Amino acid sequence: MKCDPPLYRATPPSLAVKPRLIRHLFLPPLILLLMVALGYAAYLVSERNGIKALSENGERQLELHARTLESEINKYTYLPSVLELESSVSMLLKDPTPELRREVNDYLEGLNRRSRSRAIYVLDTTGRVLATSNWRDADSYLGEDLSFRAYFQDAVRGLPGRFYGIGSTTGEPGYYLAHGLEEHGKIIGVAVIKVRLEALEERWQRARLEAFVSDENGIIILSSDPARKLKSVRPLTPEIKERLARSLQYYWWPLNELVPLEREALAEGAEKLTFPANTSVDTEHTRVSYLAQTRQLSDTPWHLTLLTPLEDLRREAGSQGMLVAVACALVAFLLIAWNERRKVLSTRLAAREALQAANNELERKIAERTADLRASNERLKGQIRERRQAEDTLRRAQDELVQAGKLAAIGQMSTSIAHELNQPLAALRTLSGNTVRFIERGALDTASTNLRTINDLVDRMGRITASLRAFARRGDGKDHGQAMPGKAVEAALGLLAGRLESFGLTLHQDFSDLALRIDQTRLEQILVNLIGNALDAMQAQPLPELWLEGAIVDGRYRLQVRDNGHGIDAEARKHLFEPFFTTKPGEQGLGLGLTLSASLAAAAGGSLSAEHPASGGTAFVLCLPLVQAISEPQTGEPT
Ligand code: ADP
Repeated sequence: MKCDPPLYRATPPSLAVKPRLIRHLFLPPLILLLMVALGYAAYLVSERNGIKALSENGERQLELHARTLESEINKYTYLPSVLELESSVSMLLKDPTPELRREVNDYLEGLNRRSRSRAIYVLDTTGRVLATSNWRDADSYLGEDLSFRAYFQDAVRGLPGRFYGIGSTTGEPGYYLAHGLEEHGKIIGVAVIKVRLEALEERWQRARLEAFVSDENGIIILSSDPARKLKSVRPLTPEIKERLARSLQYYWWPLNELVPLEREALAEGAEKLTFPANTSVDTEHTRVSYLAQTRQLSDTPWHLTLLTPLEDLRREAGSQGMLVAVACALVAFLLIAWNERRKVLSTRLAAREALQAANNELERKIAERTADLRASNERLKGQIRERRQAEDTLRRAQDELVQAGKLAAIGQMSTSIAHELNQPLAALRTLSGNTVRFIERGALDTASTNLRTINDLVDRMGRITASLRAFARRGDGKDHGQAMPGKAVEAALGLLAGRLESFGLTLHQDFSDLALRIDQTRLEQILVNLIGNALDAMQAQPLPELWLEGAIVDGRYRLQVRDNGHGIDAEARKHLFEPFFTTKPGEQGLGLGLTLSASLAAAAGGSLSAEHPASGGTAFVLCLPLVQAISEPQTGEPT
């Protein structure tokens, strides 16, 4: 037979990583990754939504503050044109006498006080200051040439002069509004009002509002944060820088650019700006991000920019991101727990099903086995019934056999009995005739001796007939009788006396005479058979010898009938106790003697067996129970 290699090859150690291990290795980093991703996504969404909400709110704020700013600026726009109505001003412009100058100075001083502006002054068409509200001050503009100022240049051409700048005399920043004073359609001079808008800045600071206003040049002219003031929100070209330097609009201010660290356009007019933090104020952060919303102010080229800090928003978005990450971790944990529980439940279920299946299998096997047992029980019952029937049949056959054996024995013995009885009868006839003659002769002693002999002979004949009757009686069932071995031997020898007389037998008797648990007649019957067989076997023996020995062995009585006859050959030994087995010629043997004897012994609870002594001959051993258990053997008298 060919060997199948895969079947007999040792299984190599598995190199595959088990799924459970993979799960344990990859699940925690995966969950962590998911937490971070979801947390970050939540952060971004929250930030975007927050910015949206902030920008909506910012729009409203921007609108509000722009309106405020516009109204603040517009408040003064009409004021320079008012001077057209004042005759002293036009007279001064036409004829600048010291009296008129004084008069106009006073007028302007009063007007300035009432309007709460910074200064009001009048210039001639060459740009020289003819009268001013601050004529009393040391840094009065009086007599100054301000023709280089853009507001003058615009106003003298009939355009509205709007200008934020730093005063060249005072170095003070302010908003200048100029108006060309006309007479008969001709500009004869320019009226200028300077206002300060710093009050707005203070208002913003009080309201904690971060905002700035950038002018047409992109220079921050108003700012809630002083650090940002006079910085440009966009890069200045060299030409612009030169022009500004020439006009001294911002005096000699360096006009550095306000450069954010980061700039991100969000929508039209809205962007995200990140500035370095003002470390003296904010020690926690190194950079601050703002939502910057810009709107142009009406009637001016200025822009108002509102800065809304995004730190709170960031913090809130961060919290929301963290919240989502924690929620994700919680959900993952719950899912894992649920999965583990599901697995435990399914394992339990599988175990229960396996148990149920095993139980069903067991019950099925039990049912099968029970059916088998029931069938074999039925079979056994059938066999028992058959056995009983067979036993009954056998018993009946055995009984028949016993009866047949008895009849055969009677038949067989009838000759010898007849011979037995003929002899005493002949003797009786002779003795009785002699006795009559002895009485007639008067020899009474001899006659009485003869009569005693006759009496003995009659007794013997009675015994013979009694034996015959007992022998022929059918013995049924168990034998609970009682017998004495001495009496039985005597009876058996009596029955066989006819044969023994002519035999020249040497008889050896050595046995204990104890009560045995067997019917007396049956014991005699057995002994007649055994002794008769022994005599048959010793026919050719010149010196026949017979041993009758009885003793207690192992609590039972062992009676041995041994002869020195021709013995039994090996083949015959196998069939000795079989019915109708005989080696005797003609009608001499029926083959029932040993069978019957063994049966009688068995019925008494004993046994019969044959032994074959090495010295020759045959020994039949009859074992019988004792009536009473006797420890010490008693030796009987040999006869
Ligand atoms: P039967 O005497 O009618 O033959 P038995 O049953 O008594 O029937 O004996 C069966 C046979 O056993 C005898 O034919 C004989 O061959 C043998 N046998 C019995 N007793 C002896 C003996 N003592 N010695 C030798 N042979 C014996």
